[in-house]
Amino acid sequence: MTINKKRLLSTFIDLVKIDSESRNEKKVAEYIKNKLKKLKIRYDIDNSHIKTKSNHGNIIARIISNPKLPTIILSSHMDTVVPGNGIKPIIKKNYVSSASNTILGSDDKSGLAIILEILEIFSSKKLGHLNIEAAITTCEEIGLLGAKFLDYKLIKSKEGIVLDSMSPERLVVKGPASDFFSIQINGIEAHSGINPEQGLSSIVVASEIITKIKTGRINRNTTINIGKINGGSAINIVPGRTTISCEIRGHNERTILAQLNKIKRILAATEKKYKRVNKKFSIKFTKERIYGAINLSRNSFIIKRILSSCKDLKYKINLVETGGGADANFFIKNGVNTVNLGTGMREVHTKNEKLLLREFYQCADIVFNSLLERVN
Ligand SMILES: [Zn+2]
Repeated sequence: MTINKKRLLSTFIDLVKIDSESRNEKKVAEYIKNKLKKLKIRYDIDNSHIKTKSNHGNIIARIISNPKLPTIILSSHMDTVVPGNGIKPIIKKNYVSSASNTILGSDDKSGLAIILEILEIFSSKKLGHLNIEAAITTCEEIGLLGAKFLDYKLIKSKEGIVLDSMSPERLVVKGPASDFFSIQINGIEAHSGINPEQGLSSIVVASEIITKIKTGRINRNTTINIGKINGGSAINIVPGRTTISCEIRGHNERTILAQLNKIKRILAATEKKYKRVNKKFSIKFTKERIYGAINLSRNSFIIKRILSSCKDLKYKINLVETGGGADANFFIKNGVNTVNLGTGMREVHTKNEKLLLREFYQCADIVFNSLLERVN
């Protein structure tokens, strides 16, 4: 028994034909639930929709074969980016693409199709396998919201595989942590024509601060971005409040901390300078951890499993790092060591998106093999 390629491809085609832009995952969730019911696989729906504002929660399915064996979680997301409605998939010899007016949605329905195929094979109970959980999430494309608000009490696994990256020859085992930080500059409002001397422009101070903060790539593993700036209320008012919203990403906590401290020192000096002009002037700095870094050891159970499967199957695979975030970051934050394996998707988030069939089947083979019960 192994992957049924024909069935896998037909599940993928079914899935991409169902509209599921972020927060509108209900129809694709119904398709998945019907399939799970048919296979007699147990599942829960969590209450994440209250926070994600999707029209459906995350689906958490499970097949427990032997409580003594480890449990591995597989995960993919149901939502797509725009334009993702009315997708017409076109099957070519080596790949699937879409008619030119939409994306394809292989991000991440290729992962979903693989999970459904794996669950179908193992639900037949003809093969010994590890215990399997599946977390099928919503709203990944709008800030990993499904994974962020997932009900982790429903999950037993300590290790897992997210199927949401490009090539199955690349296993993402390292990724940056991401912090959001904001700088609120509280200047002094005044009429710009009558008494500008009594004002202190928060926009002018913001500009001064921005020129002092180093942005872009700080070093190989650290980036800083000033993403948004809001301030002022009218052209005839010296602006009172300006807020600068920023992000820092990095693989190394110490570097992140050092960079943030540098920024805080710039802010402290600026605040001191302008407090001398007006005592009411202030700068407020706030920081929030969005997700933690991925930094998995080569010796972790899941990585060893995947590497030995690839060896058995004679597939090339490299352990790699990424600069992006994925649902895996939230799984890790919640104690589930999660790698991200590519499914064959390419040029995602564009109308040229493709799914390379050879890689798609290769990914399915690797996941299937890694879950078989065998002595390592
Ligand atoms: Zn994705």
